[in-house]
Amino acid sequence: MSFDEAELKEQLVRCMKVLHMRGLMTGIGGNASVRMEGTTEVLITPAALYKGELKPEDIVKIDLEGNVIEGVFKPSIEWHFHSAIYKRRIDVNAVIHTHSPMTTGLALAGRKIEPVTLESAVMLADVPILEFRYPGTKELGDLVAENILGHRAVILQNHGVIAVGYDLIEALTTVEVLEEVATMMFVASHFGGAKLIPSDQIELIKKLYKI
Ligand SMILES: [Zn+2]
Repeated sequence: MSFDEAELKEQLVRCMKVLHMRGLMTGIGGNASVRMEGTTEVLITPAALYKGELKPEDIVKIDLEGNVIEGVFKPSIEWHFHSAIYKRRIDVNAVIHTHSPMTTGLALAGRKIEPVTLESAVMLADVPILEFRYPGTKELGDLVAENILGHRAVILQNHGVIAVGYDLIEALTTVEVLEEVATMMFVASHFGGAKLIPSDQIELIKKLYKI
């Protein structure tokens, strides 16, 4: 197991800037973390600070119980679900939470992500929509942990998106693809609805990609 703590902090800061610039979260909404692979220590974005202007030294190091090991600021109030995911998914080393407007908007209307593109058919085969729980609570963490098994992402009703990955790039890609697909579905819905990839073609794709 090897990781560069300073580089992971830089990656977190870059990731938040990208998400903020792309309009996937506001300066005060959203958070991200990375687990230092093979340990029980997590680097997480701080609470309350403006996310588009974070610096590596603002990042907080916590354990899986939310205790601060290192850092000046308080960890994100959502550390519960970050920690709950790491405890449940040994394959996950990065968690990103955004308030992606298109993805969240479709879920508000009860619309699930559908196989409209290759990415949505393969990467996002099934993205559960979880019922509302108050942000920052252990109850939300427990609900996410129960439902994240076997998925790259879940959508929190009336709230936003949680994406996971082996590393930050993988989680970031999932957030981006989700929003892209949600936007396509929204555009298609305006003109009468989306044509979906036929199910036999999806089976073929899964065979090709060995899914
Ligand atoms: Zn949130």
